[in-house]
Amino acid sequence: MSLDFKVEARDGAARLGRIKTPHGEIETPVFMPVGTAGSVKGVPQHILEELGVQILLGNTYHLYLRPGHEVVHSLGGLHKFMSWDRSILTDSGGFQVFSLSELRKVDENGVSFRSHLDGSSHFFTPERSMEIQIALGADIIMAFDECTEHPADRQRAQASMEMTLRWAERSKRYFEEHKREAPWAHGDSDRTQSLFGIVQGGMYKDLRRESAEKTVTISFPGYAIGGLSVGESRDLTREMIAETLPYLPEDKPRYVMGVGYPEEIAEYAAMGVDMMDCVLPTRAARHGLLFTSEGRLNIKNARFTQDQSPPDPNCSCRVCSRYSRAYLRHLYVAGEPLAAVLNTLHNLAYYLDTIRSVRHAIKFGELAGRRSGLIPSSSR
Ligand SMILES: [Zn+2]
Repeated sequence: MSLDFKVEARDGAARLGRIKTPHGEIETPVFMPVGTAGSVKGVPQHILEELGVQILLGNTYHLYLRPGHEVVHSLGGLHKFMSWDRSILTDSGGFQVFSLSELRKVDENGVSFRSHLDGSSHFFTPERSMEIQIALGADIIMAFDECTEHPADRQRAQASMEMTLRWAERSKRYFEEHKREAPWAHGDSDRTQSLFGIVQGGMYKDLRRESAEKTVTISFPGYAIGGLSVGESRDLTREMIAETLPYLPEDKPRYVMGVGYPEEIAEYAAMGVDMMDCVLPTRAARHGLLFTSEGRLNIKNARFTQDQSPPDPNCSCRVCSRYSRAYLRHLYVAGEPLAAVLNTLHNLAYYLDTIRSVRHAIKFGELAGRRSGLIPSSSR
């Protein structure tokens, strides 16, 4: 078994489903916390399990540079290395190459870049991305794509989208030949990784549609919508998702990469998206920004100096049931490492609770009625 997806209930366009991977089950819609370099910053794996995380995202670019995919492979793969026996998804490395590294050159063959760590030179191709992701051994891996920058004119977006299609074919070809080489696969033909395709097309509806249709023709067990959250407005993000979803097969998981705020997560799930990931809950936490049922809360604000109430009175996470805003503010202002840990823990709990409520609402056909009450939009 490599990947099995079943839709168990529907509510409008939203779907309640279940993905089975070689490392367990994932209830969808799902929010996937980002474990950049084999770690969700500040949160140990046993706490992620306690929070109910069923799948984590790892970044190929970071793990390739440090400690190196060959090291991870020789240690039994990413699951074993980081002691996480639930599901993992890795991205293709493309997005980080384009956003973090000093980019040298993109051509038909691939991308040459310099490491953001030490300036060393590297070259990623679709085949190389597959080789690295197979060595890391995530359950779900992503085709190598070019994340089109924003803004991009039509001609540029089209050329980029077409190259991503050719890279998707190369990714699939390499993957099919090597998919039994994952560290845990043991040459077993039934228990392999799964490769997802990625839709690009910039902010052009017809290019999104063409990309979706042609990516589906190549045929993957799941599809992602990439190239969003690159600086465009939220309305435009929603428009591109709405335009693309109808062209993706109903019986395959649909994944929107790199979004968003809690209210967006709920909204996209309502539109029929099954998987999402975002660094926002963890990154914002390290900057003292908490997402709560009463809106966003800047914990460093002086008005919390004497505030003995919990960060979110409606949250039952370990942080909210034990610590006060005053204490969290103090930790942040004093530069205590615990500040980042506790803030991250609450934000992750909040995101996971949000998506759990969405699943619950879909199950009982209450999504339309509950969505407005589910997600606060006010800012504090
Ligand atoms: Zn909480």
